Amino acid sequence: MATLEIRDLHVSVEAENGPREILKGVDLTVKQGETHAIMGPNGSGKSTLAYSLAGHPKYTVTGGSVLLDGEDVLEMSVDERAKAGVFLAMQYPVEVPGVSVSNFLRTAATAVRGEAPKLRLWVKEVKEAMAALQMDPAFAERNVNEGFSGGEKKRHEILQLELLKPKIAILDETDSGLDVDALRIVSEGINRVRSTGEVGTLLVTHYTRILRYIKPDYVHVFAGGRIVESGGAELADKLEAEGYESYVKGGA
Ligand code: ADP
Ligand code: MG
Ligand code: MG
Repeated sequence: MATLEIRDLHVSVEAENGPREILKGVDLTVKQGETHAIMGPNGSGKSTLAYSLAGHPKYTVTGGSVLLDGEDVLEMSVDERAKAGVFLAMQYPVEVPGVSVSNFLRTAATAVRGEAPKLRLWVKEVKEAMAALQMDPAFAERNVNEGFSGGEKKRHEILQLELLKPKIAILDETDSGLDVDALRIVSEGINRVRSTGEVGTLLVTHYTRILRYIKPDYVHVFAGGRIVESGGAELADKLEAEGYESYVKGGA
């Protein structure tokens, strides 16, 4: 079983008045088959964690380590990370002019699997995954992210997740901008992937509502650039009732 180990991770961004430390020592271990929810107030550094794991050039790791089965993820290029089995929806470009969803997914699958999927099987796989997410087949011929609605972007993320079958998936604010029906469909997609027992999921969210559909094994509260409390699914209920106030007192 693959294990992602984040140890004392420190990350800075280049702000106008010089570098600013955002992540201040994050420790987290995610194993294949586990679902972890990272929850916390806006501005606490949740997306910074996700972007840093994705290898986004804006974020500089100034300390700590990230290992996947002992391999140094921070040394890997974005493509190498994907190939090693770390999936981050935002590791892909915002818009890919002239590239259809269908070609984009096949290229990504080829990179991750190390060989091009057999065309006929692939077409069937994509069709089934899209049907499960209640996506219009015409979506496959649209250009990646061009004019996608918020909901379409999220479904496209889950479609990638279903087709690329990573070992570790990092999903940032998958629930934002979704209406109740879309949230249910997207959550069912995540649960389908989860039920294989082969994906470790880091579900990053500000709101507790997606956790009505996806019961995490672990919940971590993120505040001020680090994890300040960890617990089981019941911690999400406490957050829903009490909010984050008790964690940000004294300034996050
Ligand atoms: P969250 O996802 O928890 O809302 P973020 O990781 O987006 O938090 O942001 C954490 C803090 O880092 C915020 O204060 C934000 O303004 C700052 N920050 C994040 N990215 C950048 C950036 N590229 N440049 C400057 N500041 C940034
Ligand atoms: Mg530290
Ligand atoms: Mg965020």
